Amino acid sequence: MRFTRLSLGRAHALANSIAQQVQRSGLPIAALVPLGSLRRFAPEMGDVAMLVVAHAQQHGDVLDGLSRLAPSVGVVRRTETSILLSTEKGPVVLHLSTPQDAGAALLWHTGSRQHTSALRARARARGYEFGDGRLHRAGSRVEAPTEDSVYARLELPYIPPELREDGSELDVIDRDGLPQLVALPHIRGDLHAHTSWSDGRDTTARMVQAARELGYSYFAITDHSERAWASRTLSATDVPKQRAEIEAVRAQVPGIDVLHGIEVDILHDGTLDFADDMLAGFDIVLASLHDDGGHEGARLTERYVTAMRHPFVNVITHPANRSPGARGGYDLDFDRLFQMAVETGTALEVDGAPGHLDMDGAIARRAAAQGVTIAIDSDCHRAEALGRQMEFGVGTARRGWVEPRHVLNTRSAADVRAFVAAKRGRR
Ligand SMILES: [Zn+2]
Ligand SMILES: [Zn+2]
Repeated sequence: MRFTRLSLGRAHALANSIAQQVQRSGLPIAALVPLGSLRRFAPEMGDVAMLVVAHAQQHGDVLDGLSRLAPSVGVVRRTETSILLSTEKGPVVLHLSTPQDAGAALLWHTGSRQHTSALRARARARGYEFGDGRLHRAGSRVEAPTEDSVYARLELPYIPPELREDGSELDVIDRDGLPQLVALPHIRGDLHAHTSWSDGRDTTARMVQAARELGYSYFAITDHSERAWASRTLSATDVPKQRAEIEAVRAQVPGIDVLHGIEVDILHDGTLDFADDMLAGFDIVLASLHDDGGHEGARLTERYVTAMRHPFVNVITHPANRSPGARGGYDLDFDRLFQMAVETGTALEVDGAPGHLDMDGAIARRAAAQGVTIAIDSDCHRAEALGRQMEFGVGTARRGWVEPRHVLNTRSAADVRAFVAAKRGRR
């Protein structure tokens, strides 16, 4: 069976189903953890890799058990320390290690390859041999139960998986130390989500309930504007009805500040799909360029610039409008967008939907360095995926070395409302 590459979303789902099967199998396993691109929140990958930690004398039994897992349609390859399964949802590689080697194995198989080869060179300079999931010194095995213990021997702090990229991170960390990366607990609200008023699956009440269960203190409902490039949209005449419903939900679900927002399309001339008097009624306005109109990068950049100059536009969503594995992003002049975002007080988004993951890490890193305010959103269309997609957004932002201070929704609801008011006040 042949597979195209797996999106982060599909890989995550496949890893979860493998983890459940392994748990049910009752095999003598000490730990099972994701590896590789999945652990580093890469937007797409060739397979799902996981580390199985078990005592050496049980490796044979464990491999036998793993080769009989229910979703596997076949064992493609088996070695003494790994097994490659072919499943209906894509290929899965399971690497085996002992508890003593688990840290070295985790580090080695998480990659990236450039990161581990940079570590290997650094190990060699300090008298160690690091390779194939093990650490040696003068020919004998060095215990490496955790990744920390390996990094410590290489005189490095623990480097989060999302930063393990082209190897240059070692030099940056040597020079400047580790960045204080944004993490899920910093996120205080989600500013981009859809309901059944447009192309979302769930009702407002259900989405707000899910947001409250995640512990958010605020949540923005941002359905698609009337002429948006989406399967279902919110008509202008529905806006007051939606507002009334949001009012009712605010009363029903206390303890969370619900913002009535909109994801308004940026039209071909850079104007917006709803008139200003309508936009003025929303608590927050997200603007999106879903329809490129056949325009090239320079013209698309100008459409964004026009939209950012609009006093009601607070966040530009998924700027490149890319889709990992399916569609490359717009060829934009990002430096100009960053400059305009700072100048106009507009945030740029890291969208956590697996079909976007946009801005990607590299672009988000440039944006943060230039002082752009970043929103990390789920762009969720189903209540059950609200938390997961925020996790993907945060993972993507971490790949961009984004810190809490760069992020709009690490701030309070009052600060978010003040961010909106400040731009409106400039008019
Ligand atoms: Zn969108
Ligand atoms: Zn959206």
